[in-house]
Amino acid sequence: MAWQDDAGRDLVRSFGERMAMLVRGEGSYLWDADGKRYLDFLAGIAVDSLGHAHPVFVEAIATQAATLAHVSNYFATPPQLELAARLKRLAGTGESGRVYFGNSGAEANEAAFKLARLHGGADRPRILALKDAFHGRTMGTLALTGKPWMQEPFLPMTPGVEFIDSSVEALEAAMDDRVAALFVEPVKGEAGVIDLPEGFLQAAREITRSHGALLIVDEIQTGAGRTGEWFAFQHAGIVPDAITVAKGMGGGFPIGAMITFGAASDLFYPGTHGSTFGGNALGTAVAGAVLGEIERAGLVENAAERGEQLRTAILGIDSDLIGGVRGRGLLLGVALTHPIAKAVVAAAQEHGLIINAPNDETIRLVPALTIGDVEIDEFVSLFAHALSTVADALLLENTTEVHA
Ligand SMILES: *Cc1c(COP(=O)(O)O)cnc(C)c1O
Repeated sequence: MAWQDDAGRDLVRSFGERMAMLVRGEGSYLWDADGKRYLDFLAGIAVDSLGHAHPVFVEAIATQAATLAHVSNYFATPPQLELAARLKRLAGTGESGRVYFGNSGAEANEAAFKLARLHGGADRPRILALKDAFHGRTMGTLALTGKPWMQEPFLPMTPGVEFIDSSVEALEAAMDDRVAALFVEPVKGEAGVIDLPEGFLQAAREITRSHGALLIVDEIQTGAGRTGEWFAFQHAGIVPDAITVAKGMGGGFPIGAMITFGAASDLFYPGTHGSTFGGNALGTAVAGAVLGEIERAGLVENAAERGEQLRTAILGIDSDLIGGVRGRGLLLGVALTHPIAKAVVAAAQEHGLIINAPNDETIRLVPALTIGDVEIDEFVSLFAHALSTVADALLLENTTEVHA
């Protein structure tokens, strides 16, 4: 098949085989090169907040591209300043907050890593991060990512980062006055949608504050309304020192940001960081329009309500393969009772449903924040169908084994 051959020959091998050749999207639906339609419950990995080809997204790109796309950070532009003010308001930083713009999640976390070093200086060389949390694939953010198998081929890492269990006891044991910052992923998405223990963020805020360390919350997957609040830290009622945002804030346009609170906003000074593309007029106009539409259409509330509806509907599916549902809002992980997530993803695709398996025992659901009854009903029917296809195949295998 032509596209598989081209992809296999021409694209970097760091990604697995491409699942399909997609040519078009509209709302929560995608079409492949053969005209087959899919219900999209992956949304570009929690990126396409408004679904595909949303008129607000399309209009923002077209209008800004025809007005002013890029001028460099030697200049300010109206969309950049509007987005910075909007992010400060949504994150609740008050006057003193500041925003750094990059083009991806990793770039936002690189900025946060440098923020931690600026805060720590020579006296605070230690940085704490959580085991299994994901913070990115660049050399800096990989050093923050508590997954030894990901780091292993690229050792040595940038020094100073130590990984702890996601428990208050582990944090208390590791913390001292030589820690510059604690990095937290509030729901561990890539690890399989793992919630933090109840009360962890509040305790982390207290413990970091009492030792003079920064609390940096990676909201790259959880931010922009996905968990049913604008940012996941807001469920805990705390004020962090910095958050990083990317995936959903651009609705499909690559953009990331670090938002600082209070005194942490004064750490960067001229010459300490930068980006050629970061904060360009085109990207900031699109992100501003996407966040504006999330606000106008009440999609943060929709994420909270539809998330609960989806959770209830999944738990109502009559299948021994479902062990439970983790996560919050429209960042959900379906725990499977057998390590068959890859087979479920493949069966779902056969049936016209796109979902994702962050590991062998979890299905991650991160649909557009715009979903309603129609998408949820269709999802439940397709997902149940995929589960029963896999259950039948498993049974068949067992039977074959018995007869062999
Ligand atoms: C996706 C993700 C990143 C990395 O973002 P990129 O845009 O892929 O660089 C970092 N942290 C978290 C929590 C993520 O989900």
